[in-house]
Amino acid sequence: MNGARHRKLVEFRVDDMDCASCLDTIRRGLSKRPGVETVEGSPVSRRLEVSFDPEVVDEETIRREVGDLGYTVLIPAAEPGQGIGVWRSPRAYRTYIAGALFFAGLALRVLLHGSIVDSHGGPSWPAAEDLLFVGAAIVGAANFLPRAIGAIRGRVLDMHVLMLLAVIGAAAIGEYMEAAAIAFLFSVAELLEGFASERAEASVRSLMELSPEVARVRRDGREVTIRSADVTAGDEVVVRPGERIPADGQIVDGHSAVDESPITGEAMPVEKGLGDGVYAGSILHEGFLVVRSEGDAGDTTLARMIRLIEEAERRRSPSERFVERFARYYTPAVTIGAVLVVAVPVFLFGQPFAMWLLRGLTLLVIACPCALVISTPVSVVSAITAAARHGVLIKGGASLERMADVRVVAFDKTGTLTHGRAEVTDVITVADLDRQTVLAIASAVEARSEHPIARAIVRAANGAGDDLEVTDFESFPGRGARARVGPAVYTVGRPSLVDMDSDPQLATLAAEGKTPVVVLRTPDGGDMSVVAILGLTDPVRPVVPGVIRELRDLGIQRIVVLSGDLRQAAEEAGRVAGVDDVWSRLEPAAKVEAVERLEAETGCTAMVGDGVNDAPALAAASVGIAMGAAASDAALETADIAVMGDDLARLPYLYRLARRSRRVIRQNILAALAVKVILAIGVPLGWVSLIVAVLVGDMGASLVVTVNALRLARVREQASEGWPTRERTGTG
Ligand code: ADP
Ligand code: MG
Repeated sequence: MNGARHRKLVEFRVDDMDCASCLDTIRRGLSKRPGVETVEGSPVSRRLEVSFDPEVVDEETIRREVGDLGYTVLIPAAEPGQGIGVWRSPRAYRTYIAGALFFAGLALRVLLHGSIVDSHGGPSWPAAEDLLFVGAAIVGAANFLPRAIGAIRGRVLDMHVLMLLAVIGAAAIGEYMEAAAIAFLFSVAELLEGFASERAEASVRSLMELSPEVARVRRDGREVTIRSADVTAGDEVVVRPGERIPADGQIVDGHSAVDESPITGEAMPVEKGLGDGVYAGSILHEGFLVVRSEGDAGDTTLARMIRLIEEAERRRSPSERFVERFARYYTPAVTIGAVLVVAVPVFLFGQPFAMWLLRGLTLLVIACPCALVISTPVSVVSAITAAARHGVLIKGGASLERMADVRVVAFDKTGTLTHGRAEVTDVITVADLDRQTVLAIASAVEARSEHPIARAIVRAANGAGDDLEVTDFESFPGRGARARVGPAVYTVGRPSLVDMDSDPQLATLAAEGKTPVVVLRTPDGGDMSVVAILGLTDPVRPVVPGVIRELRDLGIQRIVVLSGDLRQAAEEAGRVAGVDDVWSRLEPAAKVEAVERLEAETGCTAMVGDGVNDAPALAAASVGIAMGAAASDAALETADIAVMGDDLARLPYLYRLARRSRRVIRQNILAALAVKVILAIGVPLGWVSLIVAVLVGDMGASLVVTVNALRLARVREQASEGWPTRERTGTG
């Protein structure tokens, strides 16, 4: 990377960094190390990204440091955790053993004393069942002992330290059952968190598994089987029915219905044939295809999607930052509270030490911010992966949260509201060239432009311009294109390139709602003149009016069309779509100003475009949403949110998902906080026992926020389907 000579970025995979405060512990521990600059990561993807000055520390030292904090760094980092699964890991078995001992202890106590309540009470000689409890406490605590020691060594007060203190403290005053309960239940809580992050990660991994293991390629006239990862640009890949396409590329032989749902989220298979593009990860229905690979295996749209989702999970949203900051004060504050709860009654009022120590330990348990800290990232990851399955790529929690704030939606017209499959309806020749020649020349000029109008002209020429020699191609974003064809330079583009506003033929085309395009000629040494006027129609997609209505029903206040086209064509499109305002004749820079004005006038604006001529506007908007992003790398990379297919019906889904996510995040933060506050108040009053504190405040709260977050996966595309749970409660 340029300008970053003294900075190196390394990604580590830390498989057991799956609890909420683990990441924070590692981040704080590592940051104290000289040379370490930034530490980013996600407890969900269990990846850690460390940037450091290679002249001060090296990778090995950082890896050792993470190990010293009590975690295991996997090598190589790039391999996904093909772990054995949380429920069959060593710590799971320790948890089961701790649980078995704990319940055996309970059973024995009931057998011997006829009640679960400790009959002998207070510090005394251990009873027989206490041996079982001590065993449970030791086995359970073994799960978090290394992390607790690591945190202490790194001078970080994290929940493992607190839990260890609570276990030791409870055992010290003879409350063996409590000690066992904390060790066991906290282990279960950590397993649950591990399970939640494993599930979220599994959905990213299921995307990775979409690219097949092997590919058949044609080499030297023979078919050979190679690893998909070894496919390179230019390889001809043979794909048979039922198989997955291993590379992005162009069909050079055969035709078939192709299921692109893994990429675009579109359930209907698409008919594809000679010359059409296909994506790695799509499934062939019937038929047979030969695909010429466009790039190397690591460079497919699917691979890029996976990378972007992983990055998205690492970026923290404002809510996540808030919760983390909060936890940083919350935990020490409650810990101090715990000390006071012991010190004040015992030393100032001569109260019994054991009872108040127990209450202090209970507060320590409550000081763990686990449920609170995990509440937001699980929601964000759950939403991002759910969206990815619908072909919508959200680039991080911040984009998701901003989407929920959107008040205004601005649409690009050509290629976004319209099909982008415009048709040339009129060819008005005004010079010596006939219709066929005009189309041939215009198509030759436009052959290299990706604008929908350019593609329409190329289609209309039907190959007529293919043999013409074209040099000096130049593109003017939002205005047109120019190239030398034979003895003259031709320009194809918007009428404002020349002053033609009063031209009657142009006015007629415009009045019909058509998009006029002029073809201009500049002979060597001569002046530029008009040789033809083309008229194009580009109908609004049939789904648009419904989508706009739905967005409005969902609470979007203002919907605007921003178009580079002429007023009439833009207004006609706006009328059909049913939008509030139509702003026309905007060049790319003017679209940026328009977006800024919308932000200032009405509020948070989402700009929806296809990335052709509107990339600056996408970047300027609070939320830039690129449609058809699978087709354009630039759009995929620059937008905040990328809709892989070009189905506008994903927009209401996206908005609904974003709003639900925000609601779930708020519910989770509030619920976790409320539980903690209520328990914390109850402790000094003697209403909350240690076991209740772990069961409800830690394990229960973590479970509730996780389950709540996982509900986001069930947000549906159709408004009518709503929340499945709500429907059920509505009828029952
Ligand atoms: P929109 O904002 O409606 O998507 P654009 O900004 O992409 O439209 O384009 C605005 C206008 O510029 C088009 O209506 C067309 O007249 C002209 N134009 C842009 N690119 C080209 C091109 N490659 N060939 C011909 N005309 C073009
Ligand atoms: Mg456009």
